[in-house]
Amino acid sequence: MSAATTIWQRVEQVAREAEVSADFVLEMLNYRWLVNKYPTWDMPLNCRHQVQDQDDCDIHFVFIEPPEHKEDWERLHVKNVYLMCGECRRIKGDMSFEDWVDEMWRRDQERAQVH
Ligand SMILES: [Zn+2]
Repeated sequence: MSAATTIWQRVEQVAREAEVSADFVLEMLNYRWLVNKYPTWDMPLNCRHQVQDQDDCDIHFVFIEPPEHKEDWERLHVKNVYLMCGECRRIKGDMSFEDWVDEMWRRDQERAQVH
């Protein structure tokens, strides 16, 4: 699935859940930035991993601070969105974003010591 399709599906999902238009999500929640940033998935995600298969991308849109209600615009805004790969999402599981960041740092340090 192309980057544009994946992002567009996400825009539509956010719009549906918040009961607003896709335009609102693109402009007021600044998802336009994502559309412009990722014309393809060539660039690494926030988690620094790169999408291996452009046609079968396993990308997760995670809210750093979970929205508390469907009109929690501050938290629904793209500034609160973090794009991570499938492996990072699996590691995160139910962890808070804060715990996941610490866990990833710990793993990186461990890996650095092995080599
Ligand atoms: Zn990752």
